[in-house]
Amino acid sequence: MGAIGELHETIHTAHPGASLVRGADMALYTSFRTGGRARLLLEASGREEVSFALEAARGLGVPYHVIGNGTNLLVSDRGLEALVVRVGERMGGFAQEGNRFEAGAGMSLAAFAKSTVEAGIPGTVGGALAMNAGAYGGEIAQVVREAVVIEEGEIRRVAVKPGDMGYRKSAFRAPARVVLRARFELNGDDGSAVQRMREYNKARREKQPLQYPSAGSTFKRPEGHFAGRLIEGAGLKGLRVGGAEVSELHAGFIINRDGATSADVYKLIRLVQRRVFEHSGVTLEPEVMLLGDFDG
Ligand SMILES: Cc1cc2nc3c(=O)[nH]c(=O)nc-3n(C[C@H](O)[C@H](O)[C@H](O)COP(=O)(O)OP(=O)(O)OC[C@H]3O[C@@H](n4cnc5c(N)ncnc54)[C@H](O)[C@@H]3O)c2cc1C
Repeated sequence: MGAIGELHETIHTAHPGASLVRGADMALYTSFRTGGRARLLLEASGREEVSFALEAARGLGVPYHVIGNGTNLLVSDRGLEALVVRVGERMGGFAQEGNRFEAGAGMSLAAFAKSTVEAGIPGTVGGALAMNAGAYGGEIAQVVREAVVIEEGEIRRVAVKPGDMGYRKSAFRAPARVVLRARFELNGDDGSAVQRMREYNKARREKQPLQYPSAGSTFKRPEGHFAGRLIEGAGLKGLRVGGAEVSELHAGFIINRDGATSADVYKLIRLVQRRVFEHSGVTLEPEVMLLGDFDG
């Protein structure tokens, strides 16, 4: 039996109820709807299960990836010779006390937002901490206070310190830390936040190509610029590689227009980077995280 088979058996023996999928089609777990198969995927349902699975993978020398809703991921068409641990809705859970909230890392931001205010970002609480997700001038760093994480094989409760999170960067990202739960504190609000968020969500529906699979903004905002404007300025709206396209509606989004593969998306990312650099001298850095092999 190979290492993956052994890992499967080890996890299954210790946690017979664990939801394990062999050869999981990653197109079903990512918002781009592309990518190959992961050798083994665990749909996690508890912290001990996650902790055990990661330890077992380490022990057997099997690489692993932790994902949430897969809304910021591009997985290689060649698949992943790895264990994927999905911290999704089975690891939700929500508690409120006054303006303090505690949410499981797998809770969707949509559900979290309904319990707090509307947010409109399609990931999980864990993924939002990992990416320091944000929009319209706000970011999750402003409201998160503490997280329960797996770090160095131990379950720890850690306070969020200044400097832990910056623009799309975070000390709460796998593999260094796997987020299990997070505690938030929202400032007292007179209801205007809800109103504001409704307006933002309306703007999203009008300005973003939400009818096509994507991972939202493909690139980070370069300092002093907007990625979408640079891409549009270079005349790249509508540019296609295979089934992947620079959205006509919002040049900052690469969309899966028509049966794209991850290789199509990846090649288009590289092409956009090259053309924008030639046109404006600015280097665009992908915001989307790449999993697996793309080069060669
Ligand atoms: C239509 C659309 C609109 C979007 N709009 C926005 C936006 O306005 N603002 C914004 O910031 N983003 C936006 N995004 C991108 C994406 O939703 C965010 O980055 C989100 O926070 C990712 O969460 P996720 O659960 O899907 O994480 P995934 O995509 O599954 O993972 C992203 C990264 O987080 C890590 N991670 C996931 N869960 C955990 C965990 N529990 N512990 C540790 N690490 C973890 C993964 O290892 C990976 O590195 C958008 C995406 C789409 C498709």
